[in-house]
Amino acid sequence: MTSSTFFWIFVALYFTHQVAETALTFLNMAHTRKHQGKIPAYFKDKMDGERYQKSIRYTLERSWFGVVIRWLKVPFLWAVILWGGFSALDGFLSSYLDSSTLIFSVAYCLAIGFILLLTGIPVSLYSNFVIEKKFGFNKMTAKLFFLDQLKMLALGAAFGLPILFLIFWLYEVSGPLWWLWAFLSVFGFELFVAAVYPTFLAPLFNKFTPLPNGELKNRILELAQKIRFKLSGIFTIDGSKRSSHSNAYFAGIGRFRRIVLFDTLQSQLSESEIVAVLGHEMGHNKKRHIQKHLILSFVIEGIGFWILSLAIEWEPLYGAFRAGSLAPYKALVLFSLFGGHFTFFLTPLSNYLSRKHEYEADRFSVEVVGDKASMASSLVKLSKENLSNLTPHPLYSFYYYSHPTTLERVQAIENT
Ligand SMILES: [Zn+2]
Repeated sequence: MTSSTFFWIFVALYFTHQVAETALTFLNMAHTRKHQGKIPAYFKDKMDGERYQKSIRYTLERSWFGVVIRWLKVPFLWAVILWGGFSALDGFLSSYLDSSTLIFSVAYCLAIGFILLLTGIPVSLYSNFVIEKKFGFNKMTAKLFFLDQLKMLALGAAFGLPILFLIFWLYEVSGPLWWLWAFLSVFGFELFVAAVYPTFLAPLFNKFTPLPNGELKNRILELAQKIRFKLSGIFTIDGSKRSSHSNAYFAGIGRFRRIVLFDTLQSQLSESEIVAVLGHEMGHNKKRHIQKHLILSFVIEGIGFWILSLAIEWEPLYGAFRAGSLAPYKALVLFSLFGGHFTFFLTPLSNYLSRKHEYEADRFSVEVVGDKASMASSLVKLSKENLSNLTPHPLYSFYYYSHPTTLERVQAIENT
């Protein structure tokens, strides 16, 4: 294939991706607006009309913002590609660093990462301090926002830099199977981060308080014992300092495993509802969803590294993106930036799997906790509090939703 053929294939895929997802969003907006007049029957006695209208306005406003940002990026990106930005960065850096060194490779990736970070900040600011604020969700101060950014930057550097060095070093020293060693090290590293995240990283952002002794704690421990779910602690965190969105999760691997309740969840749900939600979370573990997810990531990342190893040696890649001479760091950057445009049509597949797991976890909770009513009412309350869209277009939710809609879930629970 020539560079120019590959270029036009990319152009076609890129714009198909953008137009398809924009069309889905508009379809969803129209569908949501059409239901504005009447609240779905199931929610009639569970949610007031005002709240329902607010959830529609929230959906529409966020959708609009998403579309605007998506298309604002288009001219910027194409200006960089057509102007030869990727090889210009090469030239710029080589006046400071020796281009044959590992440091040069890492610096190139860092420069790109830094540009992405900077351009992401205004988007994130608008989303938090305009939209989320308008709908009463944002509780963050500007100071906390920038402190978060700095912490994430520091963590990104602490974890990202050694990994980048390792990848480029393996490429130089370990022969044709370098990609396999690189993939295995990166994957091992990801497992390590996932294991220590709840104990060592999450507390950098939130205050973890052990759940005090009492009725709720007893009920959770009783449930855990009943299904032989091992855990190293139950904590509440001060999620309310950032947002009034609510959540619960359990994270960590092995003996680092913790149950984490947002304080916002605790104030929104009754004890029985919290137990039902945690039954759902434990269900993800008992049904081996985490393991299945890990195996899937293992396969996908392995294939990704293998394709990267081929792409590095493939001239048309550099020609199409006007990136100059062959270099592993440029291939890695192009691969990370543009790979998604070649795989976007797989999005519904992974979401389908995720939705299947959600149904299984709901069913598990109903079976072990034995409280259909609380499981269903917790979902209704959460969608009410979080202003979830109650009437997404079926095509939109099929493509984008990692969770079934609230209505789909409560219907499945009632049929359990
Ligand atoms: Zn779930």
